[in-house]
Amino acid sequence: MSWDFETDADYQALLDWADQFVREEVEPLDLVWPNQEFVPLTDARRKAVDPLKDQVRRKGLWATHLGPELGGQGYGQLKLALLNEILGRSQWAPIVFGCQAPDTGNAEIIAHYGTPEQKRRYLQPLLNGEMFSSYSMTEPQAGADPTQFTTHAERDGDDWVINGWKFFSSNARTASFLIVMVVTNTEVSPYKGMSMFLVPTDTPGVEMVRNVGLYGEPDDEGMHALIHYNNVRVPHEALLGGEGQAFAIAQTRLGGGRIHHAMRTIGFARQALDMMCERALSRQTAGSLLADKQFIQGFIADSYAQLTQFRLFVLYTAWEIDKYNDYKRVRKDIAAVKATMPTVLHDIAWRAMQVHGALGVSNEMPLFKMIHGAAAMGLVDGPTEVHKTTVARQVLRDHSPTDDMWPTEWLPRKREAARAKLSDYLDAEVGNL
Ligand SMILES: Cc1cc2nc3c(=O)[nH]c(=O)nc-3n(C[C@H](O)[C@H](O)[C@H](O)COP(=O)(O)OP(=O)(O)OC[C@H]3O[C@@H](n4cnc5c(N)ncnc54)[C@H](O)[C@@H]3O)c2cc1C
Repeated sequence: MSWDFETDADYQALLDWADQFVREEVEPLDLVWPNQEFVPLTDARRKAVDPLKDQVRRKGLWATHLGPELGGQGYGQLKLALLNEILGRSQWAPIVFGCQAPDTGNAEIIAHYGTPEQKRRYLQPLLNGEMFSSYSMTEPQAGADPTQFTTHAERDGDDWVINGWKFFSSNARTASFLIVMVVTNTEVSPYKGMSMFLVPTDTPGVEMVRNVGLYGEPDDEGMHALIHYNNVRVPHEALLGGEGQAFAIAQTRLGGGRIHHAMRTIGFARQALDMMCERALSRQTAGSLLADKQFIQGFIADSYAQLTQFRLFVLYTAWEIDKYNDYKRVRKDIAAVKATMPTVLHDIAWRAMQVHGALGVSNEMPLFKMIHGAAAMGLVDGPTEVHKTTVARQVLRDHSPTDDMWPTEWLPRKREAARAKLSDYLDAEVGNL
């Protein structure tokens, strides 16, 4: 019997170190350089950030998203989950620990599908934290349904020439290269007719038309690019995996990406719950503390239960990924975690905001940003509705229809069968009367 909810003492000591380190050393970066974590370091910032990265490396916690078999130094998804829930409270922390999205997912697919030369050129610098990357899949007219993508590449001698538009390619503005998903064969089903290419951002024809920002961000600092691929010529060696492999590769990437977002969301939601509790214990109104009001106690109890359920589900799913080493096999739970994540973060942050009164909705507290983060999490790596559909389909696979007019659990028939099974005893009971 092994069913254990404890972290081993050595790793717990590392987690305790990480927790204090993030609070004391990394969170100040969020306050002085907000939304700058994906901008290449200036000399001044490098002086502040590089020594922090060195400390993380010395602790053996740098870039732990990939295991040694894929070129990283990771310990698996479960341990990563325990670390990521600490990093989730800070924007800069994933950068300082070398495990920020989307670079983690991008590194993972290069590790799985890249040639030795692609790994040398892209994976190693990514793992070293020397460059950023962007994943360029969504198109202006199609996001949730990749079969609608039209950006395409034509073979021209030893090269491929890419044409089309991509939307919301995060961090493209500061990335050294893009991983772009394009149609390479219209004769077969889209699931077999799309391919991925590794495209250096400075390739002629990569036109960043607009850098779209999220709501509330300054216009000129958006990180989600609308890109026109305008006759972008790349050599055949830029193909990642085989021709027609894009869907399989995307599943590898998005499986990891989704669970990593969920891990960080635990930290974000826990921060909201901590804030809610502190405020409830500090604010006096109508004769008692907020903490003594039953409405507020309900907020706290619901938030605690929601967070704990979500956390255990994320940890269980991470454990499954480690156990089976196969995202497809764990697809149902990854999708379920992904679909649950926005609601958990939204609900806890919303209650925390309400408990803070006017201050809660102000720009002097980070709570509205969390609500906005929850909305974004409902779209990043696919909308909630699509993931719920996946969960439902997978759950239904383990069930079958009844061949009778009445459901299997129809009581009259079950009762009749039970009576027949126990008829000897029932007769005896009657006889005794
Ligand atoms: C912060 C952020 C970062 C992102 N980063 C990247 C990135 O780096 N690279 C990238 O390629 N993309 C990125 N995206 C885009 C993201 O992947 C898409 O937004 C997502 O796939 C949905 O596509 P869409 O926005 O075109 O919405 P649509 O496909 O138009 O869907 C809109 C809505 O329609 C409904 N819907 C759609 N399909 C179904 C269905 N099958 N069943 C029921 N309802 C459905 C859902 O409610 C959905 O939210 C990012 C998005 C955000 C918000």
